[in-house]
Amino acid sequence: MSDCLFCKMAAGEITPDIVYQDDEILAFRDINPKAPTHILIIPKKHIPSVAEAQAEDIALLGKIQLVAAQLAEELGLKAEGFRLVSNAGKNAGQEVFHLHYHLIGGAPLGIYW
Ligand code: 5GP
Ligand code: ZN
Repeated sequence: MSDCLFCKMAAGEITPDIVYQDDEILAFRDINPKAPTHILIIPKKHIPSVAEAQAEDIALLGKIQLVAAQLAEELGLKAEGFRLVSNAGKNAGQEVFHLHYHLIGGAPLGIYW
């Protein structure tokens, strides 16, 4: 997807503040953090949102959750807790239509965040 911001990050055309990457997954700091720690975790493969994920993506989605848990530990979020959330569509306020999971923590979080 040539016009997708997160595809450009996955391809290395734009370099965010990366905290983890492997051949399938990229994790980086959100440019507008809503909590003391706010990481975005994306598959390098373009999937518009979790609503469009397919059975072939099961292993990839599972791996993202394990990476999230690993990052939560490395970034000091595990003891006090954290949230892992993915927005899909209008009511969720999705702004970037490339699947991403927000890993947020570092302070008590509100009901929706
Ligand atoms: P959504 O609302 O789609 O779930 O979340 C999109 C997130 O991407 C927002 O939290 C927003 O701050 C973040 N974001 C948008 N553009 C950029 C960017 O260029 N770099 C980084 N690091 N984050 C971005
Ligand atoms: Zn994309």
